Order: sequence, then C-alpha cells, then structure tokens
Amino acid sequence: MSIISSKESIFNLLEDKNLDSEFREVLYKSLEGKEIKKEEAYRIIKTDNIETLFFVASIIRDNFKGKRITYSRKIFIPLTNICRNKCGYCGFRREPKDKDAKIMKPDEVLSFAKSGSKANCTEALFTLGEKPELKYPEVKQELKILGYSSTLEYLRDMCELVIKNTGLLPHSNPGIMTKKELADLKDVNASMGLMLENVSDRLCDKNGPHEFSPGKRPKLRLATIEYAGQLKIPFTTGLLIGIGESYNEIIDSLYAIKEINEKYGHIQEIIIQNFRAKPNTPMQSHREPSLEEITKIIALARIIFLGKMNIQAPPNLINEYSAYLSAGINDWGGISPITKDFINPEAPWPEINHLKRITEQNGFELKARLPVYPEFILNRSDLLPESLKSYIISLVDDSGFVKEAFDWV
Ligand code: SF4
Repeated sequence: MSIISSKESIFNLLEDKNLDSEFREVLYKSLEGKEIKKEEAYRIIKTDNIETLFFVASIIRDNFKGKRITYSRKIFIPLTNICRNKCGYCGFRREPKDKDAKIMKPDEVLSFAKSGSKANCTEALFTLGEKPELKYPEVKQELKILGYSSTLEYLRDMCELVIKNTGLLPHSNPGIMTKKELADLKDVNASMGLMLENVSDRLCDKNGPHEFSPGKRPKLRLATIEYAGQLKIPFTTGLLIGIGESYNEIIDSLYAIKEINEKYGHIQEIIIQNFRAKPNTPMQSHREPSLEEITKIIALARIIFLGKMNIQAPPNLINEYSAYLSAGINDWGGISPITKDFINPEAPWPEINHLKRITEQNGFELKARLPVYPEFILNRSDLLPESLKSYIISLVDDSGFVKEAFDWV
C-alpha cells in the first residue's frame, strides 16, 4: 500500500463522507500529536477501515522518525532452554530430563559470541528460560558445579565474558526479576527486556496459556518493567498477539506500558509479536492471528504512542514486510546473520541484504542501531550504564546509528 503524504490527500481521505465521525475525530487528534484516550482506542480497534488507520499511522511515523527503519545486528545466545514456566505456546522450553535440555557452558557462550563478532554483529542477545533452579534441583546442582547459586548470577558473568572478549553489547531477556537482580545486571547490559505479552490475569486461569507459568502473572511483569524504570535501564517490552486475549485486553496492555513509561521514560521499543502455533505444544491447534489483525494492532500502537516510541515487528514471523511498514513500524528488531531464532527455529531471519532491498523498495533507508536506541544514546545518556557509556558512544555516529565501519550489510 502506498503512503500518501500531501496535506490534500490526508484531508480527502479523512473527509470521506462514509467515514465514521468519531473515527475521523480520533485520527485527526492523533495527527495533531494529541494523545487518544483508552475508551477511544477501544472503539477504533473495531474499525474495518484498515487503510485509513494505516495511512494515519504511517504519517505519524514518517513525521517523527523520517524514512529510516532500524535493525540491530545480533547474535542469539540461548543460555538455557530449561524454564520454571510452562507456557502453552512455547516450543523452546525443555525439562532437565529432555535429551536436548541445555545450560550453555562459558566456552560455548564465548564461541557463539566470537562468531558474532566475526560477522560484525554489535549485540549479544541473551534469551533464556526463567529461573529454572527454582523448580529443578538438578539445575541448581549444575549451576553449583559451575560456581553459581542462580541462573541470573551466571548470566551476569556470561554478559561480562562476552563484552570483555568480543565487544558485543549484551541485551538480556531472562524473565521476571527483582529490583536487586536487575541492578546486578545493569552494568553489563546495554539494554534489557521483558515482554509484557498481555496484562490480562484471565490468561493465567485454568486452560489459559499461562496457567502453569508463575512468571507470567501480569502484576509481576509490570513490576519488573517498573523496577527497570526506577533503575534507569533502557528497556524493551511488547505484546504477544493471538494467545486468547481480547482486543480490549490488547488496548489495556498498551496503556499499562504507556503508564509506566510516562513515569520513567525508559521504554525504548514496543514489540508487536504474533503467536505462532508450534508442534507438540498444548496450543499447536490454536488459530494464529491474521496479517490484518497484527497490522491493525501495529497501527493502533503507533497511534496510541504517537511518533516518539519505536514500534517493532519481527520480520521472520510473517514475511509481509510492506504491510508492516505501511502499518507504522520503524524497527525490524534484532536480526542475526549467523544464528537462528531459537524461540522460533522454524522461521529463519531474512538475509539483511534482502531486508534492506525490500525496505528501500518501500521508500525507506535501513539503518543499523545498537541494542540501545540512537535517541537514548544522544539524549538520555543518563540511562546508559556508566561502565559501558563511553564504549557505546564510540560505536555510533553523530545520529546515534552504528558507525558505517561496523555496519556491513
Ligand atoms: S515462553 Fe518463555 S517463560 Fe514461557 S515456557 Fe517458554 S521459555 Fe519459559
């Protein structure tokens, strides 16, 4: 879908006499940079007029972000696939008795990171099962042999090992954390993350996707996101779409994130991720969200958060890049030229050159960023960990993007 940008075109489209007047009013409001209320969002998410929604979301994105779409060149390090939770859709999780259950040893972590460094990556994404030692004594024992009392203690040292030996910047996603646990990880991570997924307690009820996942209680996840704000950690969060939530619960989740960010300003991006049905999981037959549903939520997120927020959609889960761009994203997330997406191994990341071509065909420039966004590096350096600040700044150009010497598409 082409993006129309002249004022006349905006007027013609929004003044279409068939357009619902309330819908029109909300869209005008957001084009003027005014925030829309939650009740208004509940109403506009029901629209069938996707084209107009996309149109407005694209204009908001273009006006604020320009014609640049970012990505982070990363290596994916799945430190452990053993997890105390048991989410109904997860194909990554293993139990200690499974033959492919794993806690990566330091030499494996380093070997992954070195291969990332050779491939000019700048980010080491640590994604792992949540606190498996709380559920499994054998994990506790294995950690003890490695010299640690918890997965997070081990993670901290692995982040440090990677920075010191390869210069890759860690971004860790280890699940919910206490304030102290976050504080311990802060100085060895450029940024950190935790998907809110959804704020609905209902999803933790019997037969819900989070019935057996104590770490997926929305209150605990919101608390982790809030602690990160108190500690000034650049933070990534987002929604998982299509796991049984309602449209209103999606809106509630976006507003819950917004509320925390208004207090601390530490949320650097919101990921809108679509559920994928994985074989051999309790949700293997659950319906996947359609492209139209996902892009509508992307557009709505853009309209709710306006231009400043980075809105990301992973390009390996639905390969409809043009639709994502039309809906208002400005970031493709972390993409690895060498490791697979261990959470979605069936969905390879696009080659960066291919993504660059498609991005350009849609009228945008593809720019490499670090795991911490340019605007945080340039304008919110109080959010950068002191230990990494000068190193982070040395990697970027005057606009906060990865210096061309490192940005080898
Ligand atoms: S989705 Fe994450 S938290 Fe849930 S079971 Fe899988 S690894 Fe654990």
